[in-house]
Amino acid sequence: MEIYRLTYRSVSNATMTWTTLSGILEQSLTNNNWDKITGLLMWLEQRFVQVLEGPHEAVTDCYDRICKDGRHQSVELLALHTVPSRLFPDWSMRAFNFLGLSDEEKETLRAKHCPSLPQVDIPKDEDLALALMLDALDLCRRKKQNAHLLKAF
Ligand code: FAD
Repeated sequence: MEIYRLTYRSVSNATMTWTTLSGILEQSLTNNNWDKITGLLMWLEQRFVQVLEGPHEAVTDCYDRICKDGRHQSVELLALHTVPSRLFPDWSMRAFNFLGLSDEEKETLRAKHCPSLPQVDIPKDEDLALALMLDALDLCRRKKQNAHLLKAF
């Protein structure tokens, strides 16, 4: 079975909360398990970036539903292509945010990934977006006090 990776970015609604996101993730667990989709969602202030990996039809159907979801807007496809293996094979979906990162850590990420911008933002290039996601995930994981920010469902 060929595995596809779809990466998109979007802008979350102003009313988005971690509780709302937790509900989305619970639904995603059921759906993604059923659809053999795995991935990761990062919530960065008012921005989302998500990676969906799985069979082509499952991934594109999921993305179609996500595009119609009123809880975010300006959904923008960054890339869709086959991959030799999954980046996040161990869970159907996890999410984390930046709330627990210090200003210094955010500045480190900005300087490395978005040097020309005043604050961290999601790059339009898939590789750069993934690199930012993986670095941010690593930082969040290393901070024990931020362990609650990384939720698994
Ligand atoms: P329905 O159309 O009712 O069902 C969707 C899918 O459920 C079907 O394709 C089917 O394959 C599957 N399914 C699950 N269980 C069964 C079963 N027992 N029998 C048959 N089919 C079954 N939604 C996701 O699904 N995955 C995500 O990763 C995801 N990420 C999101 C990220 C963001 C930032 C936002 C805002 C939303 C996200 N959503 C995600 C939610 C998405 O936008 C839709 O709201 C949601 O997928 C609709 O789910 P549903 O079960 O109501 O849809």
